[in-house]
Amino acid sequence: MKGIPSGLQKHRVLIFSMAVACLVSGCATAVGPTILSDYGALYGVNPANRTQRPAPHEGIDFDVAGGDPILAAAPGEVSEVFGTAGVVDVYTDEIQRWCGIGTRVRHAADFSTLYCHLSSRAVQLGDQVARGQLIGGAGRSGTSAYVVHLHFGVYEGCCRDMNPHRFLTAGCFDPGRAYPDPKALTYPVRC
Ligand SMILES: [Zn+2]
Repeated sequence: MKGIPSGLQKHRVLIFSMAVACLVSGCATAVGPTILSDYGALYGVNPANRTQRPAPHEGIDFDVAGGDPILAAAPGEVSEVFGTAGVVDVYTDEIQRWCGIGTRVRHAADFSTLYCHLSSRAVQLGDQVARGQLIGGAGRSGTSAYVVHLHFGVYEGCCRDMNPHRFLTAGCFDPGRAYPDPKALTYPVRC
């Protein structure tokens, strides 16, 4: 390309290739777990059938194996629990219809985190959970496209979905570390 230094051009090609690789096989963040479908994405989790979503994705889908531990991203109280064990094909806006087995944890400063498509739940309504505490095991219940993954959402107030990347700033959970910022989330999966 005329006028563009070849170094910069190569850099652009590299960035573009990485973006394509991300779309095709999932996107690994620098230190975190692999993401199958990111916040705001219009594509789903199944690499063999990346159908368009009816609306931009309201959370992040993490690549996990069945039964993998799902961890609370910050301390809080279990404010909702969901219990549909089967895989559901139809998507609706109501969380309890698509989440499968899952839970929502309310944190300080009026925000909450949502964990969906589990195979089992280890917490009950009203439980106080610590950061890094086991929420349940990973699965594919609810509207999961039959792919085992964790849907992780962050909400402000009751219902306003937020980009989890804004809060996932505390890295991988480390039980020996202090986390003074109540809004800094650790990854909800092992990494
Ligand atoms: Zn999702």
